[in-house]
Amino acid sequence: MTWQKKIDDALAARRSADALRRRYPVTLGAGRWLQADGCQYLNFSSNDYLGLSHHPQIICAWQQGAERFGVGSGGSGHVSGYSIAHQALEEELAQWLGYSRALLFISGFAANQAVIAALMEKDDRIVADRLSHASLLEAASLSPATLRRFSHNDSQHLARLLATPCPGQQLVVTEGVFSMDGDSAPLAEIHAMAQQHNAWLLVDDAHGIGVTGEEGRGSCWQQQVKPELLVVTFGKGFGVSGAAILCSDSVADYLLQFARHLIYSTSMPPAQAQALRASLAVIRSHEGDERRAKLAMLIQRFRAGINTRSLTLANSDSAIQPLIVGDNQHALRLADTLRQQGCWVTAIRPPTVPVGTARLRLTLTQAHETQDIDRLLEVLNGAG
Ligand SMILES: *Cc1c(COP(=O)(O)O)cnc(C)c1O
Repeated sequence: MTWQKKIDDALAARRSADALRRRYPVTLGAGRWLQADGCQYLNFSSNDYLGLSHHPQIICAWQQGAERFGVGSGGSGHVSGYSIAHQALEEELAQWLGYSRALLFISGFAANQAVIAALMEKDDRIVADRLSHASLLEAASLSPATLRRFSHNDSQHLARLLATPCPGQQLVVTEGVFSMDGDSAPLAEIHAMAQQHNAWLLVDDAHGIGVTGEEGRGSCWQQQVKPELLVVTFGKGFGVSGAAILCSDSVADYLLQFARHLIYSTSMPPAQAQALRASLAVIRSHEGDERRAKLAMLIQRFRAGINTRSLTLANSDSAIQPLIVGDNQHALRLADTLRQQGCWVTAIRPPTVPVGTARLRLTLTQAHETQDIDRLLEVLNGAG
C-alpha cells in the first residue's frame, strides 16, 4: 500500500457510496438569497438564522474596528492579542448569560476541542448524547478519557451510564438544539442526572444562542438550567464567526493555563470582537425580539404547510427543519430538483448523520419572507 493508493481508495469508497463531499463556490451564501454561477436561489441552507450577517450596524462596527485596531490581532491572547475589545465582549457575554466569566475562541470547533482536551484525563469519563456534533465527539474520542454515548435525549440511559463506577470525574455532553435534527435536549432532566452523580454538564448551544429564550439567551436560559460549561458559537444566530465558553472564575483561570487552542493560536481580530458586540446588542434589543418573532412565524407557516403524507418532517420547532429521506441518492436527487426550481437546499448524508437517514437539512431564517416559505412548500409538496 502506497500513500497514493491509500488516498485513491478512500476517495473511490466515498464516490461509490454517493458520499463524496464537494464545495460549491458561491457569490453570496448567507441571507435570503444564495447566488452562484450567475443564478439566484432562495437560500434554505445557511445558519444565519436571524439574518444578522448583513446587518448594517454590525458591518459598520467591523469596519470601524478595523480602522481602529487594524485587521489582525497580532498574536495569541497570552502575548499581545487580547485587546480591550475582546475584554469588553467577554464581560458583556458573561453578564448576559449569568456567568462569572466568558473566554473567546476562534470557532466552536476549537472551543469544544480545547475544553475537552484541557479537562479530561485518563480515569475520567465523557457521557455524550450520541447525536452530538462532530467537534464534541471527535474531541472526546481523541481524549484519554473513556467515551460512552447515550441514546439521543434519553436521560434514563444517561443515568444508567453515569451509575457505573468511574475512577475519575464524569462530564456529560449534549447540545441545546441538535444541528442535524433541530430538536431540543431535556436539559433540566439531564442536569439533574449529572448532579446526582457529581458529574459536570457541558451544553453546546450553537443553534439556540441568540435565537431562543428571553433576550436570545438560548436553550439553557429558556429551560432554566445553568450548566457548569456552556459553549456558544457566533457563526449561526450571531451572523458572524467565533465562539465562547461560559464558566466560573476558577474554570476560566484553569482554561487559560491548560487550553492549548487558546495559548498557541492567534486570537480573533479585535474588529471581529467589535462586530460581535454590535451583534449582541441587536440580539438583546427589541429588534432582536422582532427578528425572533418573525422567524417563529415562518417556522410555523412551514410546518403547517408541508404535505406529510409523502415527506417525513422531523420533530423540530427550531429553524432547522430536516426532511428525512433515507437513501443517499434519493436525497441528492431531491436537492437537485429543488435547486432547479430556485430553492437551494443541502442534502446531508452519512457519516454526518446515521446510515439510512440521509436528509434535506432545510434552514429557515428571519431574512426569508412569507412568499419564500410558500414557494418552498409548493416545490416540496410537488417533488415529494
Ligand atoms: C456549528 C457547530 C459547531 C462548530 O462551530 P464553528 O464556530 O462553526 O466551528 C459546534 N457545535 C455545534 C453543535 C455546531 O452546530
